[in-house]
Amino acid sequence: MTLITNHMPTAQLQALDAAHHMHPFTQGDELAAKGARIITRAKGVTLTDSEGHEILDAMAGLWCVNIGYGRDELAEAAARQMKELPYYNTFFQTTHVPAIALADKLAELTPHDLNHVFYAGSGSEANDTNIRLVRTYWAQKGKPTKKVIISRKNAYHGSSVGSASLGGMSAMHAQGGLPIPDVHHINQPHWYGEGGDMTPEEFGLARARELEDAILELGEDRVAAFIGEPVQGAGGVIIPPETYWPEIQRICDKYEILLIADEVICGFGRTGTWFGSESFGIKPHVMTIAKGLSSGYAPIGGSLVCDEVAEVINGCEFAHGYTYSGHPVACAVALENLRILQEEGIVDRVASDTAPYLKKKWETLADHPLVGEARIAGMMGSIALSPDKANRAAFAADPGTAGLICREACFANNLVMRHVGDRMVISPPLVITHEEIDTLIARAGAALDQAHARLS
Ligand code: PLP
Repeated sequence: MTLITNHMPTAQLQALDAAHHMHPFTQGDELAAKGARIITRAKGVTLTDSEGHEILDAMAGLWCVNIGYGRDELAEAAARQMKELPYYNTFFQTTHVPAIALADKLAELTPHDLNHVFYAGSGSEANDTNIRLVRTYWAQKGKPTKKVIISRKNAYHGSSVGSASLGGMSAMHAQGGLPIPDVHHINQPHWYGEGGDMTPEEFGLARARELEDAILELGEDRVAAFIGEPVQGAGGVIIPPETYWPEIQRICDKYEILLIADEVICGFGRTGTWFGSESFGIKPHVMTIAKGLSSGYAPIGGSLVCDEVAEVINGCEFAHGYTYSGHPVACAVALENLRILQEEGIVDRVASDTAPYLKKKWETLADHPLVGEARIAGMMGSIALSPDKANRAAFAADPGTAGLICREACFANNLVMRHVGDRMVISPPLVITHEEIDTLIARAGAALDQAHARLS
């Protein structure tokens, strides 16, 4: 067997990768032809690849490396925990100190009475938990017909069968016979793309009221919950109009529908508050967390549950759990990550300093001839590429082309941004400095110029 190391030539590593490694969300034959970019090291907001390029990671990996790369404290916390207790489970009335300590810290950080956590290994697993949790809650309360979960088109809630069903990605539903029964999708609050002649405020109300229509159509006695990301991330960083969430909250309260906020991206400082729900005035019964919980240093997720729902669930044996629910090493790493976020005042600095600075710079991109809108909430932003800015038109012939070209130009300019159709998105590490923000904007501008030259 070949010993595979960082020192091997890139082409050899790429060939081995293409031969044996199936990548998520990647067309394998295209990748085999081009070769994957191989990331070898990272520090702060900067990645280094196998060719020695230094790349500004404006996506924080997959929206997750909130404290930045290369924090030794997390490696040390993992090593300490591995030596002391590398694994034990939390099934059958057992527990351990890292799971207890992290649950206690989460109860301190979360708003209102979200005082309980059910651990998972990822955001997808946590959303699968939520499906069973809310249905079990209603069954325990003597209302077993309340099973339907209402979500939105173009939402992303994960890749497992359950969580991808909650999501509203048509390309995902087309593969593997999704969604599962009793998941219903309403339209998203995407004013730029779908708002027509309405003002953003009118449109936000109209889209929220689709929830009420759906509840009345399906029957109040069938609806268990509504799930939504405070800001849709993978859908293209869709920041809802201000009227949207208060109306959703009013409708959930009126019909006593459980509200699940999927905070997998928005949580842990991304929108400038600890949780996106606080930025948008949402009071959820359940919150999904993952990603920024450990800044991606260890796989961990969970469902944060309010007192009332936890009391009902705790009244039965909830026949659910994962081998790695509350994995001690992942819990220890997450706890250290939360200590750093809190003690170094990273979330406060985002709110008072770096997010306003980034917003000012980001919005200048709207002056570019290719850019129809540039919006940002805290540290997650997007630009919409448009051939006709005045009419908010999309690139008609081949949706996604402009974004794809732009992404290639970003790569060439040593910048990681992501494209979703013709939207280009960012979600940098929360520790990004002013100087690094200037570099990000300069490289994004250069990529846009190159894309514009190719398209004109
Ligand atoms: N929910 C949201 C909002 C996400 O953005 C993601 C992942 O991007 C998930 C859930 C799924 O998380 P994971 O990839 O950890 O399963």
